[in-house]
Amino acid sequence: MPATPTVIRCARGWAVPGVANLHSHAFQRAMAGMAERQTNPADSFWTWRETMYAMAARFDPDLLQAVATQLYVEMLEAGYTRVCEFHYLHHAPDGTPYAAADAMSVALIAAARASGIRITLLPVLYMRGGFDGRALGDRQRRFGLDVDTWLQLFHGLRRHESETVRIGCALHSLRAVPREAMHEVLAALPADTRIHIHIAEQQAEVDECIAVHGARPVRWLLDHASVDERWTLVHATHLDAEELQGIASSGATVAICPSTEANLGDGLFPLRAYLDVGLSRATNLQESGADGRVAGASRPGAGIPAEGSPDARGFWGIGSDSHASVSPVEELRWLEYGQRLATRQRNIAVTEDTPSVGETLLHGTQRSAARSTGFTGEDLVVLDDSAPILAGAHAGDVVDRWIFSGNRPLVRDVEVAGMRVVEDGRHRNRDAIAARYRAALQRLLV
Ligand SMILES: [Zn+2]
Repeated sequence: MPATPTVIRCARGWAVPGVANLHSHAFQRAMAGMAERQTNPADSFWTWRETMYAMAARFDPDLLQAVATQLYVEMLEAGYTRVCEFHYLHHAPDGTPYAAADAMSVALIAAARASGIRITLLPVLYMRGGFDGRALGDRQRRFGLDVDTWLQLFHGLRRHESETVRIGCALHSLRAVPREAMHEVLAALPADTRIHIHIAEQQAEVDECIAVHGARPVRWLLDHASVDERWTLVHATHLDAEELQGIASSGATVAICPSTEANLGDGLFPLRAYLDVGLSRATNLQESGADGRVAGASRPGAGIPAEGSPDARGFWGIGSDSHASVSPVEELRWLEYGQRLATRQRNIAVTEDTPSVGETLLHGTQRSAARSTGFTGEDLVVLDDSAPILAGAHAGDVVDRWIFSGNRPLVRDVEVAGMRVVEDGRHRNRDAIAARYRAALQRLLV
């Protein structure tokens, strides 16, 4: 893969690669903007979660399909062309399985098909209410599966796999999945299955993990599972230096969700340190003589492995998660801005490949896309070269201008698996899907 994204001038504008959305809970789109009123001076992730559970309890397969289809249309119009759907609303609200036990999963696949986006559906194993082994609470009952029922669901869903549908595995979190169950599921998976897990979103879960397991969550996972390039660690927010190094060395992808992590007050992923860990690893390899092709150096951006050598830098991508925002531009911009605000410096996410922050960020998402989603095909986004903000643009600055120029949509066309699904900024079936979404929200919000 080239070191920077491929930007090509074409008849309809500037063609750039489609962006992978590595983390989504589609139903949460219906509550965007509805948890922004203070209920308690100590409002936090945990009070937000109660609002989210109340919303989750209202969904049935029809509502889920309507909300997810609208969400996926908005993703496509924004430049996302594949989504990893981390799905745990398995049963009816009281915990009873639907007549077709996979009805909610099938609704998500139907939503993806109706929109044209590629979906990696990740049915979630969710077994308990916390590290201490407590049972699921009333509002969590519809999430619950044991290992056998999860495996049945997973294998049954694989009949839907196609050029645009893949089925992977999600472990909700270390707090929701006991160690033995994790090992049982991992041992039963086909070798190329993608595995996603929420890992260290909140400091409270890090503290609980230390109290129960005697180790931080990322450390514990690295020590107790064969974490490799099949894995995506979602919200690897709270990390120490050894954990950063461990993830980068494992080949796993970190899924960062800047707009949601900001919205929920989670914390800031240490992007610059993560990029530097990969670099110091490359430097160490050279110094130890383990790989003579690796060029080591101490300045940021140096030490990139030569072409054909093992890629030493950590993998990462973005997700829109709770969908407080549905825009790869906003996720990437805030990923960089968070670093600038914390360090009081500028132009943080760069490498020796290019001084362009935008290209470095877009390339980061492109580099992890296939390993995290399982899709190897390339999709295309065409940016509108008639937009005033792109006047006089050239291939070397288009991506920076796209990401760092605000919120006017610049996506003109989107092609997924060879099919044009967005043309002139509009999804091919935008109006009918939006009408169905409005009707669904009327039912949902009564
Ligand atoms: Zn999540």
